[in-house]
Amino acid sequence: MTASDNTLFNSLPLNPATLDNLAQLGYLSMTPIQATSLPAALAGKDLIAQAQTGSGKTAAFGLALLERLNPRRFAVQSLVLCPTRELADQVTVEIRRLARAMDNIKVVTLCGGVALRGQRASLENGAHIIVGTPGRVMDHLARGYLSLEALNTLVLDEADRMLDMGFFEDIATVTKQCPPERQTLLFSATYPEGIDKLAKQFMRSPERITVAQPTTSESLIEQRFYEVTRPTRFEVVVKLLNHFRPVSTLAFCNTKQQCNELVAYLKQQGVSALALHGDLEQRERDQVLAQFANRSISVLVATDVASRGIDIKELEAVINVDITPDPEVHVHRIGRTGRAGETGLALSLAAMYEMGAVGKIEQYQNQPSVWHKLDELTPKGSGPLLPPMITLQILGGRKEKIRPGDVLGALTADAGYSREQIGKINVTEFTTFVAVQRDIALEAMQKLNVGKVKGKSVKVRLL
Ligand code: AMP
Repeated sequence: MTASDNTLFNSLPLNPATLDNLAQLGYLSMTPIQATSLPAALAGKDLIAQAQTGSGKTAAFGLALLERLNPRRFAVQSLVLCPTRELADQVTVEIRRLARAMDNIKVVTLCGGVALRGQRASLENGAHIIVGTPGRVMDHLARGYLSLEALNTLVLDEADRMLDMGFFEDIATVTKQCPPERQTLLFSATYPEGIDKLAKQFMRSPERITVAQPTTSESLIEQRFYEVTRPTRFEVVVKLLNHFRPVSTLAFCNTKQQCNELVAYLKQQGVSALALHGDLEQRERDQVLAQFANRSISVLVATDVASRGIDIKELEAVINVDITPDPEVHVHRIGRTGRAGETGLALSLAAMYEMGAVGKIEQYQNQPSVWHKLDELTPKGSGPLLPPMITLQILGGRKEKIRPGDVLGALTADAGYSREQIGKINVTEFTTFVAVQRDIALEAMQKLNVGKVKGKSVKVRLL
C-alpha cells in the first residue's frame, strides 16, 4: 500500500455501506486527524487526540462509535460530551450524516436551556447515541431517565473547553456511571493540566495523537496589526470594515461590556452587528448565530467563551478588537478565518498597554507581527457595508414539522424565486430562519405571509 492509500477510507475496517455513504458525502480521503486516529480508535484503543473544530474530528470519533454500535440493541451505547450546545448540535448533525447508511440509529441531544420533559420522552423512545453537555447529562442520570449501563464508547469532545468551563467534576460524575471496560476517546485543541488528570483517572493507557498544525505563516491567514489608542479603537474597527469590506467578520473583545459597547457603536455607524456573550438566552443565541451564519449580519462581536464551538464557514475576517493576554487564544481566534483553503484576514488592534501581550504572541507564533498604518485605511466601495442577505423568521419549526424543503418549495415553486435568491434555511424547534437576498426580502415576506408553507398559513417577519 502506498502512503496515499493510507489516507483512503477504504484502507480502514469499515463496513461497505459506511464506505458508500462517505463517498456520497464527498469525503474522498481522510483528514490528517482521521488518518492518524481512526486505525487506533477502530481497534478499540483509548485515545487523546489533539484536534480543533474544522479538522474533521467529529467523523474521527463518529465513525469509531458507529462501527461498534448494534442498532438492534435499544440502549445507549455511546455518549459524546461537549462543552456547548452549539457544538453538541453540530456533532449530532454530523453523526446523523455518518449514520445515514445504517438503519434507524437514534441520536438524542441533551443540553441545558430547554425543558427536561421533551428530552425524557426522547430517551423513553429509545436512544443509541447521546450527545450532550455534562450538566444536563448528569441531570438525566440523577433522575434515572438515562442509563449508561450498555455504553461502549465515551467521547470527550473539546475537553480543554469543558475543563475551562469548570466541568471537571461533572465529567467525573458522568464517567463514573459508564462501564469500566468502555473505550474513551478524548479530543482537545490544547493540553491544559486537567487533561492528564482526566486521562489518569478515566482512561486506559491512552494513545496520544498529534497532528502537525499548519503554523499561521504557512496557512492562508494574513495577519495585520494596527496601533490604536483606547478612545479611537472602535473608530478603527469601522475604518477596517469600510476598507476591507468583508461579508462576515468575527470581532473579539475581552469583556462582555466591551462587546455590547462595540455593537452599539457599530449600529450607530450603520454597520449591522450583533453581540454573542454568555448573558444571552439560548433562543437569542440561536437567532444571533443563524443570522450571522446566513450572512445577514456583517459583524458578530463575541467574547472568547461565547464563541466556542461555533463553526462558521466563509468567515472573511477576524478582528481582535482587544488583544488577548493568552497567545494560544490569539491563534484560536485568528484560526476562525481562512478555513478550507480560503484566504482569511486577521486584523489586530493594539494600544500601548497591550504591547506586552503582542510580544508574547510573536514569541508563541515565532514570527514578528506585521504593522500597518491607519492612514492606509480608506473607504472602498460605494455606500455603507451591507450584508448580502436578510433573515426572515417563520414562526413555526420542527414542532410544526416544517422542513427546509418545505420553505424552499414555498419560496421557489409557489413564490417564484430562483434557488440562488434563497440562502441558508435553519429550522429550530419552534422557529425557522431563512435568508433571502436583500432586494427581495420585503416582497418575499409578504408572499410567505399570504401563501402557505406545508399547506398551512404561517406568520413571517423580517429580522
Ligand atoms: P469537524 O472538525 O468535525 O467539525 O469537521 C469539519 C467539516 O469537515 C465538517 O463540515 C465535516 O462534514 C467535514 N469533513 C469531515 N471529514 C471530512 C473528510 N474526510 N473529507 C471532507 N470533508 C470532511
